Amino acid sequence: MRSRLQTMFLLVATVLSATAQAGEKKLNVIIITADTLRGDMLGCNGNKEVKTPALDALAAESVNFTHAYTNITTTTPSHATIFTSLYPRDHKAYSNTARISSKIRTMDEIMKAAGWHTAAIVNMPWLNPEMSNILQATEELARCKHVRKAEKTNPWVLDFLDRQGKSSKPFYLWVHYTDNHTPYHAPGKYATMYYPKGKDPRAGKSGSLQKVWKWFPVHHQNEPSFKRWLKGITDVQYVIALNKGSVSWLDLHVGKLIQRLKRDGLWDNTLLVFTADHGESLGEHKIWFSHSGLYQPTVHVPLIIHMPGGPAHKTVNSLVQLADLMPTILSRLGLKIPSHARGRDIWPLIESDAGGGAVFLEHAGRQLTGIVTPRYKYIKHLKNKSYNPGYILHKGKEELYDLQKDPGEQHDISSAKPKILKEMRAMWKRLRDRRGKDFKGASAKVDDQTEEMLRSLGYTQ
Ligand SMILES: [Zn+2]
Repeated sequence: MRSRLQTMFLLVATVLSATAQAGEKKLNVIIITADTLRGDMLGCNGNKEVKTPALDALAAESVNFTHAYTNITTTTPSHATIFTSLYPRDHKAYSNTARISSKIRTMDEIMKAAGWHTAAIVNMPWLNPEMSNILQATEELARCKHVRKAEKTNPWVLDFLDRQGKSSKPFYLWVHYTDNHTPYHAPGKYATMYYPKGKDPRAGKSGSLQKVWKWFPVHHQNEPSFKRWLKGITDVQYVIALNKGSVSWLDLHVGKLIQRLKRDGLWDNTLLVFTADHGESLGEHKIWFSHSGLYQPTVHVPLIIHMPGGPAHKTVNSLVQLADLMPTILSRLGLKIPSHARGRDIWPLIESDAGGGAVFLEHAGRQLTGIVTPRYKYIKHLKNKSYNPGYILHKGKEELYDLQKDPGEQHDISSAKPKILKEMRAMWKRLRDRRGKDFKGASAKVDDQTEEMLRSLGYTQ
């Protein structure tokens, strides 16, 4: 039998232990955005060809949202949505030359104010704070001078993690990878991992690649770096294989990052989000090696959330959007969600996943808008202009697809199904207008020098 003194001692020890737990470090947060990574490229999302062992292992320890959508298919606008939970129509950044207003509260501002050490590594010049203004309170920043690929991004990230292992302050880190963006980065064996053995992608003077060149976005067709990248290649399937190889290459480096978190003892105290800002069209709808259009290849993105002590090997099939990330992360940390947020906390879907939902979609340059539900996709053309010769926009045109019967979106049923068209149009309007009218988020323009730099890179016309 325990003596009274022993019982007292145990009681005090238990109270002290509970107090120590309450005073433990808050959760660290890492958001990884793999620029231009399609949602259907991951093994854990059903891809049988592309090898993504690290991301599949991550999904096995996390919650995998299999029907996650971006709200816009361009880099700066999409990241602005991730870090503000606003639709582009609210933050008004519709291109990579756009800059959000300083009046808008960004994720890093909230995290810094709540006591987190804020850090980021970005790998496109338009994401630098002086341009996009989406990093308004990042204390430790690896800016983009030249685009780094994963092998040059990871050393900075791993060094950062090693230092955080010794720090008493929680950290909030955004890691931006660009390996899946053109030019697809698949070094060494990764270049031919998904290409027939022994086949020569440079055979002959012209081939399938030259046949589709005229369908490339106009800013790519004559772009020197784009031409240099594809010089001598004649087989378009080789370029598609490069994209797949770049996914496995990225997977390798995300795996190294997770290994380091585990080695440094940070894994059990870090909330990790893996997603993408948008996907990529690899020839679907005659949109080649570009993320134009609002079709599935460009709007469906991966979304895996690892919550220490949270559910593992869990799949959520309901539709979710990138605007949901900020509310979801802040809720997990016990922080207040800003009243302007368009998104919602999607964590309750783990328990109540009915496979429903709807996501509001927009396009660069306000060219298109739309909505996706589990069954249908509605697209509305807002302009006549298009920089994709294979996909011409007609102002006022509406498209409607049955994603269950026609997942490739090949048969526009807008004329055949007027009732569904009307319902989808009404739902699109409701989502568009539900919030944000009270929001005054004016965008600012980048300076002339920046605009000229972007033009030289082929990003503006
Ligand atoms: Zn992007």
